[in-house]
Order: sequence, then structure tokens, then C-alpha cells
Amino acid sequence: DFYNSSLCSELEKSKALFEEAQKYLVKGVNSPVRYFKPFPFFVEKAKDCYLFDVDGNKYIDYCLAYGPMVLGHANEAIINAVKEQLELGTAYGCPTEKEIILAKEVVDRIPCAEMVRFVNSGTEATMSAIRLARGVTGKKKVIKFDGAYHGAHDYVLVKSGSGALTHGTPNSPGIPEETTKNTILVPFNDEEAIEKSIKENKDEIACLMVEPVMGNVGCILPKEGYLEFLREITEENGILLIFDEVITGFRLARGGAQEYFDVVPDLATLGKILGGGFPIGAIVGKKEIMEMMSPSGPIYQAGTFNGNPISITAGIETLKQLDDRFYKETTKTAEKVANYLREVSEKYNIPAKVYNIASMFQIYFNDKEVLNYEIAKQSNTDLFMKYFWNLLENGVFIPPSQFECCFTSIKHDDEVIEKTINAIEEAFKNLE
Ligand code: PLP
Repeated sequence: DFYNSSLCSELEKSKALFEEAQKYLVKGVNSPVRYFKPFPFFVEKAKDCYLFDVDGNKYIDYCLAYGPMVLGHANEAIINAVKEQLELGTAYGCPTEKEIILAKEVVDRIPCAEMVRFVNSGTEATMSAIRLARGVTGKKKVIKFDGAYHGAHDYVLVKSGSGALTHGTPNSPGIPEETTKNTILVPFNDEEAIEKSIKENKDEIACLMVEPVMGNVGCILPKEGYLEFLREITEENGILLIFDEVITGFRLARGGAQEYFDVVPDLATLGKILGGGFPIGAIVGKKEIMEMMSPSGPIYQAGTFNGNPISITAGIETLKQLDDRFYKETTKTAEKVANYLREVSEKYNIPAKVYNIASMFQIYFNDKEVLNYEIAKQSNTDLFMKYFWNLLENGVFIPPSQFECCFTSIKHDDEVIEKTINAIEEAFKNLE
């Protein structure tokens, strides 16, 4: 039983904390993806590309808090700026100049962004973007892809990815059928399926929401021309195209996936990297759509902590550091690890497919090209968890699920990659 990893017996403090945590927190955690069998390690601190657990172990981190920590943990410029802001107050309920500074930078970078509304999470961003699209078009239905994860709210928690899929509940109980009947599901990378669902729901579809690269069922790339196809067909049919760039925003390129693929949606949602390790989300888009939001328009969106000065400060300091070198280096390191995974899976004769783009990568224990959720689900998830534990024993932490994505940060330098490659080799030796 691979859950009986030798490491488990050494994680004494983590085990004790997990037992204590379970008394007060559901399964000991505050977000499902953080739980894995038999128990997760508890973190004491983090610096650069390393996590340190309470038992004194050090791991090279490819989870990076599920994406935000692209500058590595405890970035000095962010810490200093946040310290300064802390002294000036942490929430005002009034506007600040810093919100303009960050909004300007977002508008400058993201092709579809003419205006910005800052919120507190990716979940809030996608929820508000869908409401905005429905309000603007006067239509109800939303097209969503099988396995796409757009956060944990009712409109989109249908055939969802990430923790919902990992823990076996891609459709959550507690969501009224009346809500989800307006969410139309289609397979990714399939043009006919979109054409068919648009025909069947003619004039009823408010928006199509897509992760331009699917990052919550592993890492699934769009087929060449697919995003262009989505742009054209939505435009022809009066459907708003929303890119959920909570993962890809500021990651694939300066201007996210829309710059990388040169396809400009009507609206986009952002989060993760934008907050520099603090909670944030954003809805961005064309001025005439954004101005339909309250208080200039009737579509309601609000939040006590929207544009919170701490998150905004960290965001400003983060984007300042995302320069050409950042994109070049993080792409290079993710590619090195991905290429090694391809090499080693062949060497040990383990059927696998590996995908990478910019700082994102994932291996599927699957012999088919992974183009969508159905194929991703056929992967050998037990083998994945064995790979996960083998890596952890060798000092490398990746997200504990086949249905998540690994990330590199600017702190994953050549030496760290070399160590990672050695750990992967060790992990594969024991993957039988
Ligand atoms: N959209 C995508 C593509 C995501 O990956 C996530 C989170 O993983 C979300 C939305 C939800 O963001 P948050 O967890 O900040 O609510």
C-alpha cells in the first residue's frame, strides 16, 4: 500500500496536528484539495521555491499555493511593501490611489481589459462575470466545458474539475436543478459539440466561459485554432466570450492567454498571481460591458474587501517583477522538467503523456493524448498518487492529484531543477 510511505511514519508532528485539526476543521482542512491520504503534511514556513513542514522536512514546491507564488514564497519586495501598507491601515471602505495603479497595469497588460473590478477570489470573479454577461445580454444560459473549474459557486459547479473531481463530487449536492439547468456542458476541443449546443439553445446563451488552457483537470492545451473558433462562433451568435484566466493570467505571457494565443475575449476573470499571495480576483473587459455594473449600471456587484489595500499592494509589487526574463526563465524550467518526465516515462516503460506551456506542466498516466475531461479521467490515478508520494519522499511537492497542474516559479533555478530531475528518477524507479 503506497499510502504507507516510509515518510508517513516520520511525519509525527503533522500527524498529530491532523488529528487535532479534524476535531475543529472538516477533515482537518479549509479547502478540499489540501487533503490527501493518509494525511497532509502541515507547513511551518516557506521561502523561495521551498516549503518547510513542522517535522523539519524541506520540499521543492511545484504547487505554489495552486498557482499564485510565481515569484517564490516570501518575496522581499512584496513583504516590504505590505509591511509599509500595514502601518497605513488594512481596510478603509473608501477608494485609494493604489487601486488605480494596479488597474492601470492590468489594463496595460491584458488585451480585453479596458476597465477592472477587483474582488476577493477567482470564485467571486467568475460568479460576477457570469451575472454581468446575463444582465447585459438579457439571456440565461451559460456554456461551460466538462472538467473546467471556475470556482465553487452554483452556476459552474457542474462536471467540475479540481478538488470536486479529485474527491468524487464533480456535481455537488445542494445546488438546485433550476440553477444548473442553465449551464450547458460541452467537451473541450470539440467544435461540433459547440455548434450543436448553440443551435439547440438559439438566442438563450448569455456567455461561454473557458479556461484557455485547462488547469484543473491536469494541463490540457487547446487544439490549434480552437480558441479562434470559440471567438468566431460566439461573436456570430451574440454570445459573450469569457476567458477564465485565474490560472493563465500574467502566466502564459505578460497579457495572459489572450496575448499568448492572440484571441481577445469580451470579458476575462483574473486571480491568483494578481494578488501576490494575498486573496484577490478581478473581472475585466470592454468598457461598455463593465459600465453596466453597479454603481454606474444596474448589475450588482459588491464586496467589503474589494480592492483591499494589502492585496492591491502585493499585486502591484508582483506585476512589477513579471518581466521578459520571468517569462523566459519559468517557461524554460517547466519545459526542462516536462521533457525529463517524457524521457523517464519512456525509460521505465510507463505509459504517460506530458504537457507543458509557460510555467505550467503535468504528467498523465495515460496512453492516450489528453484532449478533454473524458480522456483525462481515464488516467491511472492510483499510479499518480504513488508518484506523488515517491516524489515527496525525495523532497519534491506537487499538487496531490492527477487533476491539478504543476507550476514553476522564478526561484526554480538550474540547481533546483537538477535536484528535481534526480527526485523524479528516484520516484520512477519505484513506480511499478
Ligand atoms: N477559475 C480557475 C481557472 C481556477 O483555477 C480557480 C481556482 O483554482 C478559480 C477560478 C477559483 O479561484 P479561487 O480559488 O480564488 O476562488
